[in-house]
Amino acid sequence: MNRNVLLVGAGLGGLATALRLATKGYKVEIIEKNSQAGGRLNQVKKDGFTFDTGPSFFSMSYEFEEFARDCNIELPFRYFELDPLYTVNFSGNPKIYHLYKDIKKLAEQFKDVEPGFEAKMTKYLRNSGKLFDDTVDLVIRNNFDSKLSYLFALMRVNPVHIPVLFRSFWQHVKKNFSSAEARQIISLVAFFLGRTPFDTMAVYTLLSHTEFRHDGYYNVEGGMYKIVEGLVRELKKEKVSITYNTEIVDYEAEGNKLNCLVDRSGNKWSADIVLVNADAAVFRGSIFKRKAFSEARLDKMNWTMGYLTFYLGIKCKLPQVSHHNYYLGTNYEEYSSSIPRNPDSLQKPYYYVNVLSKFNPDCAPDGCESIFFVCPVPNLQYKQDWGDKHTVVNSIINDFSKRINKDIVPEIVSKTIYTPLEWQEQFNLHRGIGLGLSHNMSQIGALRPANFDEEFRNVFYVGASTVPGAGLPMAIISSKLAFERITRFSNSGFLK
Ligand SMILES: Cc1cc2nc3c(=O)[nH]c(=O)nc-3n(C[C@H](O)[C@H](O)[C@H](O)COP(=O)(O)OP(=O)(O)OC[C@H]3O[C@@H](n4cnc5c(N)ncnc54)[C@H](O)[C@@H]3O)c2cc1C
Repeated sequence: MNRNVLLVGAGLGGLATALRLATKGYKVEIIEKNSQAGGRLNQVKKDGFTFDTGPSFFSMSYEFEEFARDCNIELPFRYFELDPLYTVNFSGNPKIYHLYKDIKKLAEQFKDVEPGFEAKMTKYLRNSGKLFDDTVDLVIRNNFDSKLSYLFALMRVNPVHIPVLFRSFWQHVKKNFSSAEARQIISLVAFFLGRTPFDTMAVYTLLSHTEFRHDGYYNVEGGMYKIVEGLVRELKKEKVSITYNTEIVDYEAEGNKLNCLVDRSGNKWSADIVLVNADAAVFRGSIFKRKAFSEARLDKMNWTMGYLTFYLGIKCKLPQVSHHNYYLGTNYEEYSSSIPRNPDSLQKPYYYVNVLSKFNPDCAPDGCESIFFVCPVPNLQYKQDWGDKHTVVNSIINDFSKRINKDIVPEIVSKTIYTPLEWQEQFNLHRGIGLGLSHNMSQIGALRPANFDEEFRNVFYVGASTVPGAGLPMAIISSKLAFERITRFSNSGFLK
């Protein structure tokens, strides 16, 4: 067989599909816009510190294990389970909630604010678990050839779940818990999908099951970028080449066959099969010039939020701060309704802090910490001007200093800031949006941009804006789905 595959983009979805293909005899060549692999799962090394720049943990570890088995390799990185999953602190309240997986231990944290928490959480998780079991294999881990086949799959989902299609995440959590603290903490996971609990469907309460019951969250020894380094090492063994600093800007085609892609320097790249790991919606619009994906049409689609991320190296230790932490304000409902579109909401930002050096001492010099902040912000459709980035970042640093009772301003020796402008520029993300297309009903399954091209039979897609969606385990599932498509196509007789 020995088909050639050209892969555009070395993000997680791309690297994983490349390895699946290479270990099954395909000849794979990767081209990447940036000077290193990983895409959004990336790393900055600066001033003696190492920072993970995007993801800080993953769920569904068994997807990675299955991937390794499919490729007949040992998983090329080591991961460890998080428990507590993370901490949560509300502004003006010194209490820190530790999100333990053990529900009895978790209930202890809520005993003052939510009577009967243990029984309520157990019932809530039982329902989330049913949702997970009844939908994941059917809807998420499947390729759909048409909207009709998707509809048939949906019809096979147990009808007891129909009510959650008409309820928001917040409404569902509100039915289960009565205190503001429990409602806010349990619904926080909706933000991991890049939206808020108010505009995320209740069907995603299945994520609570993935957090607490099913498989939990994992960190990677040495930092998240070890995933990328490990995959690149495996690809090298399979003689897969990666050409960096090469951006695709154009194409040549004949009928329903893509002949070649053209990079910024005018070089032509061709192969039997082309796999696109660049954003599946953006690439169709900006490179293939499809009307359905023009800038104006993309703006009308439903997207996730932008992220303001910044990376601090500080010359002291922070024993009072855990590894993964969420800092919330006092106006959750008001904040959630305005943050996707209203830049004024940044006057009281909510944010996440990751102390990478806590369990990975090599990521900071002795006596220092490497810290990573993530703050959801309106994407570039709603806030184009980031001239105030230092003001926003400083307000977060000051708020953090107050909450941890330690002024870190004089300790900062390294600072790097990415606004949505940098996210857009680096990875060609529409409006600098961190997680890509949102996961509402009209943009999942067969209604999401497909992983096969509408026009060119030899073009396929993998990654966050095609099926099944955003996040690291989804990128691994996406690689499996893309691999299946490519295998089926290779055997179809289209390529003589
Ligand atoms: C701040 C942040 C925090 C996150 N946290 C988490 C987390 O904790 N857990 C989790 O599971 N997920 C998290 N995610 C989501 C996760 O990072 C993404 O869903 C995942 O990494 C996307 O992978 P992908 O395969 O879609 O490829 P991408 O990472 O988007 O990679 C695509 C690659 O294509 C390249 N490219 C684009 N256009 C071209 C072109 N024209 N020519 C050549 N190359 C091109 C890009 O440079 C890039 O390297 C986070 C994301 C962000 C932004």
